[in-house]
Amino acid sequence: MISEQIAALHSQLPAGVTLVAVSKYHPVAALLQAYEAGQRVFGESHVQELVAKQALMPADVQWHFIGHLQTNKVKYIAPFVSLIHAVDSLRLLREIDKQAGRCGRRIDCLLELHLAQEETKYGFTPDELTALLDSDEWATLPHVRIRGLMTMATYTDDTEQIRREFRTAHDLYQHARDHVAAASHWDMLSMGMSHDYPVAIEEGATLVRIGTSIFGQRQY
Ligand SMILES: *Cc1c(COP(=O)(O)O)cnc(C)c1O
Repeated sequence: MISEQIAALHSQLPAGVTLVAVSKYHPVAALLQAYEAGQRVFGESHVQELVAKQALMPADVQWHFIGHLQTNKVKYIAPFVSLIHAVDSLRLLREIDKQAGRCGRRIDCLLELHLAQEETKYGFTPDELTALLDSDEWATLPHVRIRGLMTMATYTDDTEQIRREFRTAHDLYQHARDHVAAASHWDMLSMGMSHDYPVAIEEGATLVRIGTSIFGQRQY
């Protein structure tokens, strides 16, 4: 039951950890069940699907975009999105800034860190992240606010490997905080999915992105 899963997660998560209910590929009826159980933060990873659901769901939902975002699609979500988790290039950040400006908004963003040992995943390597933060251009963009980092661990049963990756993300998050604090807010670390969120919380996550454990298997 969706409502029971939401209630269980809300009672289980420590204070300071936000549950992002990842509702991609699930119908609006399922999202409404979660909403009625008190869930307000939803994560989607496809622009068209997000736009369609946003029009049907109550206005006080906070929509997080958690997938790979194409530059030419930013304009469709800029009017309402509350957090973009996976910014993976300066070019994308500039486009978010431009579209947010057109809407008279400032959009919160996280930088995606690539740590997993999988070629297909997007994101900055630790060196690229440091170079980006050193370059200071990000701090001059008036309509975006970088709040922290997002990462995905390698998909594996090896809990120690997952823990090492989350720990590395947390170390980088802490180091960057000193660098960024003067210019921005830096208070969000998004990591942990259905199979690895307990480890992510132990390693300092402030947002967990949970889909399958709430809604069941996705309908493709
Ligand atoms: C789909 C997705 C999730 C949720 O994964 P589950 O295993 O269903 O909990 C979390 N983060 C991202 C980036 C996703 O694309």
